[in-house]
Amino acid sequence: MTSTDLPMSDLTAQGDRAFKDYETLRAQGRSLDLTRGKPALEQLDISRELLTLPGDRWTASDGTDCRNYGGLKGLPELREIFAPVLQVPAERLLAVGNSSLELMHDCLVHALLSEVPGAARRWVDDERIAFLCPVPGYDRHFALCERFGMELISVPMTDEGPDMDVVERLVATDPAVKGIWCVPKYSNPTGVSYSDEVVERLASMPTAAPDFRIFWDNAYAVHHLTDEEVEIRDVLAASEAHGHPDRPLVFGSTSKITFAGAGVGFFGASQSNVDWLISKSSKRSIGPDKLNQLRHALFLQDSEGVRAHMLKQRALLQPKFELVQQILERELGGTGLARWTSPKGGYFITLQLVHGGASEVVRLAGEAGTALTPAGATHPYGVDPDDATIRIAPSYPSIEDLEHAVVSLAVCVRLVGYEQLLAQ
Ligand code: PMP
Repeated sequence: MTSTDLPMSDLTAQGDRAFKDYETLRAQGRSLDLTRGKPALEQLDISRELLTLPGDRWTASDGTDCRNYGGLKGLPELREIFAPVLQVPAERLLAVGNSSLELMHDCLVHALLSEVPGAARRWVDDERIAFLCPVPGYDRHFALCERFGMELISVPMTDEGPDMDVVERLVATDPAVKGIWCVPKYSNPTGVSYSDEVVERLASMPTAAPDFRIFWDNAYAVHHLTDEEVEIRDVLAASEAHGHPDRPLVFGSTSKITFAGAGVGFFGASQSNVDWLISKSSKRSIGPDKLNQLRHALFLQDSEGVRAHMLKQRALLQPKFELVQQILERELGGTGLARWTSPKGGYFITLQLVHGGASEVVRLAGEAGTALTPAGATHPYGVDPDDATIRIAPSYPSIEDLEHAVVSLAVCVRLVGYEQLLAQ
């Protein structure tokens, strides 16, 4: 029996119990943070060897002196390692900077200021520019578009990726729709991986804008949490096959593989897109930090090395994800107050409140010492119309802190949920 079927007296009792639990939590006066998907200290420690690499070496496989300027494409050996990981041929994969988000930012800026391949004019010369945002999604994607005055259009997520009926209709009819944000594997925050059919439809759909781009942010390409290592369809190959080779821009980084903040960013695309980006970025930079790239190549060795390294990451992350599942099941299972995702990879769990009230839950949890990502952050303009989605980031806290934080969250969900049911 779920809470909606409970008699009033039982609901009142549940509400009272939740209130008492909440008061107990508040009295404990702890302060915890579940806001951002940062790697925990133990996760950073497994890449410690990077701090002593490249030792007294500085020559790359092609003879490049990594101490000097140049090499805008990045080191060939590192691009070789990440080519299969990101499903981009090495010659069309760039290793640049320390962040994929910066590359996404730069692509938007360059597209605004210089025609992308296939464009009739610069994006800035268009009166309106819109991006499709599968929701729930990643707040920093939305923030980039907002920063440049681009309109954000929500598209519902399904278990297989964005609702393609909606996407196809919007891109076919509105030439202002220039792009879509996609986190195709273990998506932030739902954990959804795109089905082959969704990738095919994205690659083949007719678009009113000739310069439409898929921002394919494969941030969690190798971030498995189970034995099932999910594979997604190769979007570059699919788009080529359907006659739209310039459509996808693929992004990735080692932020959640090695050091978040001292890793390497990657960009992959068609040859004309790669040439376009290099021609613009050559004005901005005389070359990336190749010593960091050499260090990463020596440390990770090859794609198998990446896999072996990610198994160590998984060993640290999996127990945290399992703990969250156990607590949510124990505290909220069968209440009918909430549903949550059980991701097979990535960094997040999404909690959906059946009766809404997410902002109130986040506020109450904050008052009791558990900081959560603001409700609404997973939606364009920070507004979740159902006020239902809460993103849980289990990676950073210790197991003990995580337990306390998720119990607190569950108590707040019960408190708000029962109050709402009683008020109905
Ligand atoms: N994309 C997604 C989907 C992410 O979740 C994150 C990190 N939270 C990033 C990009 C940021 O990546 P980077 O550190 O490479 O800028």
